[in-house]
Amino acid sequence: MSAPADATYDLFIGGEESPGAAGERRPVIDPATNREFARAAVGSVDDARAAMESAERAFRETNWAEDDGARRGRTLFRLAALLEADAETFARIETLNMGKPLRESRADVGYVVRTLEYFAGLADKTEGETIPVPGPRFDYTVREPLGVTVHIAPWNYPLLLAVRSVAPALAAGNAVVLKPASLTPATAVAFARLATSAGVPPGILNVVSGPGARVGEALVEDPRCRSVTFTGSVEVGERIAALAARHLRPLTLELGGKGPVLVFPDADLDRAARAIGYGIFQNAGQMCWAASRLYVHESIREPFLERVRAVAEALRLGPGLADGVEMGPLVSPEQLDRALGFVADARSDGGKVLTGGVRATDAGLASGNFLRPTVLVDVPEHSRAVAEEIFGPVLAAAGFRDADEAVRLANSTRYGLLGAVWTRDLSTAHTVARRLDSGMVVVNEAPITYPQSPFAGTKSSGLGFEQGRDAVRTYTRRKNVLVNLGAPKRKA
Ligand code: NDP
Repeated sequence: MSAPADATYDLFIGGEESPGAAGERRPVIDPATNREFARAAVGSVDDARAAMESAERAFRETNWAEDDGARRGRTLFRLAALLEADAETFARIETLNMGKPLRESRADVGYVVRTLEYFAGLADKTEGETIPVPGPRFDYTVREPLGVTVHIAPWNYPLLLAVRSVAPALAAGNAVVLKPASLTPATAVAFARLATSAGVPPGILNVVSGPGARVGEALVEDPRCRSVTFTGSVEVGERIAALAARHLRPLTLELGGKGPVLVFPDADLDRAARAIGYGIFQNAGQMCWAASRLYVHESIREPFLERVRAVAEALRLGPGLADGVEMGPLVSPEQLDRALGFVADARSDGGKVLTGGVRATDAGLASGNFLRPTVLVDVPEHSRAVAEEIFGPVLAAAGFRDADEAVRLANSTRYGLLGAVWTRDLSTAHTVARRLDSGMVVVNEAPITYPQSPFAGTKSSGLGFEQGRDAVRTYTRRKNVLVNLGAPKRKA
């Protein structure tokens, strides 16, 4: 694969790279310096249509959909192996483009490899059912691929969140059109190149970058679109849901979060403090499932917050490619301003900054989008900083008196993605886990997931689910076939 620096990431349509109909390219920026490190094509509505056309033709004319699922699976296993062999290059591109520390990008690429392997293994397991019906009849269902599936990905885990839905769609036999975020198109294009080398037929995986409001909407509205999977903000998710409803498209939405962490006094407080740091400062807090609200039992509130403050202040900030860096920059100056705006709101609502809350401007950091790991306390419940997703390294902490109050506070936002409970008491762990209004709960654990575990949100956090064995079924339709066997009637 080409070296990341000075590279060009074009559109990938029908197995070929091109700058698109208008030939427009834009700089791809390293958020640690805000300098250009590559260029990427800016697709248009015409390019979106060309990608849909290419996918639809490949779905019809290649044997990808009709082939034995085991063969598709072998192709996806090959793709996983190629990615694993080139993992370091992919990780470096991801870090250059998104800013996260290299060890996080390496973990992300490892996760993508495991995701591909998991869904490769499911490619020949889309079984149907036989159904008893009266008379000499045979009734059965088959699972068929949908056709062309559209995937709109965000910038916070550019490759991981794209492949999380692309892999099951491919495993099920669909043809895919992927739109990466405009800020982070690089690894999606590099991945499509690799897919071709692995034997994915031209046109089965297309990548079309370009402004979401034009290219993304054109993909959703295209008559060839058979399903939409979107990861990103609630606002855009709602907009896409309206478009999908108008055209009756099946839809999977993975939107924002405002993850509550409940720490009871009997918890392993050292582990909890470290996990809370990981849950909000990993990827500079730019995670849908960030553990961004901390609720601590009043009896341990002050000493525990001191531990969390120590974790925050010990983190080493820097460009993701530098040795030993534990937190990188935010993805863009806009994202930095947005996070600082939330901190300002928290202050004006009466909250205090326990640590952080300002840009990091030390030598080597001043030109990047670095925000010091931030812990806010005494922020009123109604403040935007407590109620809304910040998508930055900003934790809002408060106390609770008993489990009822903890659960009430945890469930008080419009989100419902991931909640965390820290306690050594089995009964508290399980009863609180059940009462949390969220799609996922972790007990005595930082935010963690695996390709085999469903990833889902409730309320404004999403619709449907990703990952897990049922994810492949999301990208199939169930057809019922009823056969009259014409057998002679039984004699009386
Ligand atoms: P968006 O929701 O705008 O972007 C996510 C993806 O959707 C991108 O590929 C984007 O394209 C595309 N898109 C944007 N508008 C449309 C549209 N009208 N139709 C179809 N696709 C569209 O997120 P932002 O980048 O603006 O981030 C803002 C906030 O969203 C963050 O601060 C965070 O709170 C939340 N977010 C949540 C994520 C999650 O993992 N759940 C991921 C990213 C953001 P383009 O890049 O060209 O705009």
